[in-house]
Amino acid sequence: MKCEEIFEALSEYIDEEITIQKCREIEAHLEHCSNCRIVVDTLKKTVALYHAIPAENVPDEVRLRLHKVIRLENGES
Ligand SMILES: [Zn+2]
Repeated sequence: MKCEEIFEALSEYIDEEITIQKCREIEAHLEHCSNCRIVVDTLKKTVALYHAIPAENVPDEVRLRLHKVIRLENGES
């Protein structure tokens, strides 16, 4: 897989809504691509922070903004 394909699949990967096959392809890519590893690590921290906030305390605007950030990080500019 190319880095661009990795970026496209990253949000699925982070949400764990990805197929096993695709997940393996991403993990194989991450083993030899430190650049994508950094992106995944950053996204995981962002998502972890997001999940740490009780849902009722997250305004829709914040939620949308987080999703936007994740998409931007994925390269969908
Ligand atoms: Zn890469």
